[in-house]
Amino acid sequence: MKVLVIEDDKEIVDAISLAFQIRWPEAKVISTRLGQKGVEFVETEQPDIVILDLGLPDITGFEVLRQIRRFSAVPTIILTVRTEEADVVKGLEWGADDYITKPFRQLELLARVRSMIRRHTPLEESNLTFGHLQLNTDTGQLYMNDKEIALTVTENHILGYLMKNAGRVVTHSNLAEAVWGDDYPGATDSLKVHIRRLREKIEQDPGKPRIILTKTGVGYFLAKPE
Ligand code: CA
Repeated sequence: MKVLVIEDDKEIVDAISLAFQIRWPEAKVISTRLGQKGVEFVETEQPDIVILDLGLPDITGFEVLRQIRRFSAVPTIILTVRTEEADVVKGLEWGADDYITKPFRQLELLARVRSMIRRHTPLEESNLTFGHLQLNTDTGQLYMNDKEIALTVTENHILGYLMKNAGRVVTHSNLAEAVWGDDYPGATDSLKVHIRRLREKIEQDPGKPRIILTKTGVGYFLAKPE
């Protein structure tokens, strides 16, 4: 288990390292204060999870995400001091899996990391089919009419859960628990962003979805294939 921390505030890096040392000693924490170096580390060090600050001295965290997502689906948690929803939404849109607002509690951070790692473990049923969609939840490979579509780890889990429950409405809370291990404040808003990204990838007209449908105020469900 290897954790890559991309953060220029030494105190925060130390706090994260200490949290792991105490509560998860078998995890190895590596860090860098530079975004560009962080991108290199994702390639050379193959971390299991990335914790990413948005404000870095060389390039922004958003740019780091963009570059990472060109070659890796490594689970990535954004660390942000900014509580503005716009930053969080932008981070998720650029391919982050989750976010946590500074200052954070040790236990909260570790719980998020754990749920992110846990959902990397294979589910019993890994090959799912729904209409023209074929998803392998182990590898995250999605095929639509035999064309491969790249998914982030979170998109893979959301779609996998919806496919497993095809025809049934999945509530925001159930979906958040399936994807993140708990239903935390703000999960519904995060889901909304991930669902929008998924629709952009698989719907002909993402504004008028025909595959992933919304049950207003309740959750989402997959429409019966035509
Ligand atoms: Ca910073």
